[in-house]
Amino acid sequence: MNNERIGKLLDEFNTFGYTENGMHRITYTKEEKLAKEFFKKKSEELGMDVRFDSVGNVIARREGIDHSLPAIAVGSHIDTVYNGGKYDGLIGVIAGLEIIEMLEEEGIQTFHPIEVIAFTCEESSRFNFSTLGSKAMTGDLKQSDITQLKDRDNISLQEALKRQNLELENIHLAKREEKEIKAFFELHIEQGNRLIENNKTVGIVDGIAAPLRVSLTIEGKSAHSGTTSMEKRQDALLAAAELALEVEKAAVVERKQSTVATVGVMDVLPGAINIVPGLVNLKIDIRSTDVNSRNRVWKKVSDKVEQLEKHRNVKVVIEWKSEEVPVMMDKTIVHSLSELCENMNIEYMTMPSGAGHDSMNMSKRWPTGLIFIPSLDGLSHHPEEFTKLEDISTGIKLLKEVVLSYAMQCSKKEKKL
Ligand SMILES: [Zn+2]
Repeated sequence: MNNERIGKLLDEFNTFGYTENGMHRITYTKEEKLAKEFFKKKSEELGMDVRFDSVGNVIARREGIDHSLPAIAVGSHIDTVYNGGKYDGLIGVIAGLEIIEMLEEEGIQTFHPIEVIAFTCEESSRFNFSTLGSKAMTGDLKQSDITQLKDRDNISLQEALKRQNLELENIHLAKREEKEIKAFFELHIEQGNRLIENNKTVGIVDGIAAPLRVSLTIEGKSAHSGTTSMEKRQDALLAAAELALEVEKAAVVERKQSTVATVGVMDVLPGAINIVPGLVNLKIDIRSTDVNSRNRVWKKVSDKVEQLEKHRNVKVVIEWKSEEVPVMMDKTIVHSLSELCENMNIEYMTMPSGAGHDSMNMSKRWPTGLIFIPSLDGLSHHPEEFTKLEDISTGIKLLKEVVLSYAMQCSKKEKKL
C-alpha cells in the first residue's frame, strides 16, 4: 500500500473541476470528460484494456488466467455535485487503480479478470436523475424516464450526451449480461457521522435505505391577520407545523431501525405577513432499510393527518405517494468482509446506508459489497468533505483482500461450490 501514491492520484484527479468553492465535476461536462480520459490513461499505463460504454461509463479490465470466467468488478463514480467535495465517488475509483497497481507490483495474476469501473452521472445534481450510469449497466432504465430530462440551463440530457459523442437512443447498449460479472465491490465515504461516533474505521453496509415519499396539500382558509380572531382561523401552516413535528416524533422512536424522516419542503401560500396561511404544500421523505419500520412512521403521520382535519378544520389532500424498495446487500459478502476485518484487526461495524449509491443498482443483478470509510464531521456534498489518507488506505486494503478472495477462486473450485 502506497499512501503517497494514493494522495497524489487524488490530487491529480481533483485538478479536474477544481474551483475555489468546491469541486464542479458535473456529469457530462468537459471536466468530467477530462477526468474520465485521465482514468483511461492511468488504467492503460497499468496494462489494462479500457472502453467507454454507450452511457459514458469507463470500464478498465485486467485479464485473468481464465478468460472464460466472469469479472470481479470494483468501482464508483467520478462526477460530483455542484460545490462538491474531493472524496465522494472518486475514492472508489482510485481504490480500484491502486489495487491493480499493487497486483502488478506483487506479480499476482488472478484467475478471474478484474475490472475497475468509473460510473458516470451518479449524482442527481444536473438532471435530477441519479445513478444513470449503473442503471444503464444493469438494464434498469426506461427510455421514457430520461427523454424529458433537462438541466438548469435547459440543456436536455440528449443534447448533453450528444456533446460527449453519445446517443440517447443507444444508452440501452450499456446493459451487461449477468454472466459477465461475478461480484461488484464499492468503496465509498460514509457521508455521515456514525463511524467516527463509534470509533470505527470501516462500515460494512448491509442494506441501502429507500424512501417513501409523500407530497400533500393542506387546505385551510386565507384570512385577514388583523381582523380574524384566533378561534375562527383555519390556519394551514399551523396544521403543517404540527404534522412536521409528528414526522420527527414518529421517526425518533424507530431509531433502532435507523429510520429517518424529513419534511424538506413547505410552501406557504399566499405567503404574506398580513394573511393567515390558507394553503401549504408539504413534502415528506421517510427512509429505512426496514419497510415495516417505514410503514409504522407513515401510519402515525397519516393518523395525525386525520386528527388535524378534525381539530384544525383543514382538508388534507395527498397529491402523490411513492415507495421505493430498500436493497439488502449480499449476505455472503457481508460475512466475508466481517471475517476479513477481524483477521486484519480493522475496527468495523455493519450499518445501513441512508444514501443511494451505484451499488444499489449493481446489487440487483450481481452479488455486491459496499464498504464505508469515515467522513470528517459527517460532511459530504461539501467543499470541506475530508477523509484521512490512513482510513482510505485501510479501506483499500480490505477491498483488495475481498477482491482477491473472489478473483483467485479457480474454475474447478467454483464448480464444486
Ligand atoms: Zn457518491
